[in-house]
Amino acid sequence: MPEAVWLDLATARGQPDRVQAAVVANPAPGSLQGFARLRLIQSLWAGVDRLLSDASLPADVPLARMVDPALTRAMAETALWATLALQRGFFDYARQQRAGLWRQHAQRRADEVPVLVLGQGEMGTAVAHSLALQGFAVTGWATRPGQAASGVRRIAGRGALHDALAGTQVLINLLPLTPATRALLDADLFAAMPRGAAVVNLARGPHLVQADLLRALDAGHIGHAVLDVFDSEPLPPEHPFWQHERVTVLPHVAAHTDERSAAAVVVDNLRALQRGAPLRHLVQRERGY
Ligand code: NAP
Repeated sequence: MPEAVWLDLATARGQPDRVQAAVVANPAPGSLQGFARLRLIQSLWAGVDRLLSDASLPADVPLARMVDPALTRAMAETALWATLALQRGFFDYARQQRAGLWRQHAQRRADEVPVLVLGQGEMGTAVAHSLALQGFAVTGWATRPGQAASGVRRIAGRGALHDALAGTQVLINLLPLTPATRALLDADLFAAMPRGAAVVNLARGPHLVQADLLRALDAGHIGHAVLDVFDSEPLPPEHPFWQHERVTVLPHVAAHTDERSAAAVVVDNLRALQRGAPLRHLVQRERGY
């Protein structure tokens, strides 16, 4: 975008009246204060929970989040890998290998493994769609009933969630972190799932009550957990998840913003700002996502 002048934060602070748009990836709290002419905050991350937790974030400036096709595709790949591994028992076989144990388990078909995807936005829709194509019986949960990806049953509301949990073998969390979704994955939710079901958290650490999950794993109620995100990242070395034989830990890599495609997304929005055209992927601050 040759017509734009790019400034780093320190330089921008010296010339605040020149700054009309900020392109950010989880900046330190307070970083966006003092730019009176700011007209767009463009996040390079899909999740904007940390940005929104900064009380000094200018309230009247539109905030756009990253919706990047490569990011969405990567998330669908991660969810597909985890679900296939759970369906076919590959995490169990990895555990058996460490014990030198040769033991075959019954082979489950994809359509015998009901999957519940929490969140039917950019990520959740793509994940649900790719799992449905693979033959899984997929339900997607959102705030409102509505259009679902082909082959996906979309539900809304706490009652429908509770009913769906009873028949879920694999739960995949792709919700944004908001006051309504924080600590949703707790003992009550696990208790509503059948014994041996699996939990895959690809969204944010604080969605999950870690102590409740550990208890459910140790009781054998939850059979396995695939966790990409944690309350504290990096996951502290002494954390029990590292050594737990029924937990697979990923270092927040389910899907990264791809700078090649994300750059085009940013430029599109900056050009829309220049033209006075509608901005894309705006966060509705009252909803928190
Ligand atoms: P999105 O497009 O904003 O979609 C959010 C979805 O969650 C929507 O379907 C929304 O329902 C639903 N939702 C929100 N609050 C809800 C509630 N209280 N009850 C039920 N459903 C609710 O977000 P996205 O782009 O799919 O991203 C989701 C999250 O993934 C991000 O916020 C981020 O934290 C996480 N993420 C993680 C990684 C990683 O590497 N681990 C990478 C990218 C993103 P409606 O459709 O009814 O509004």
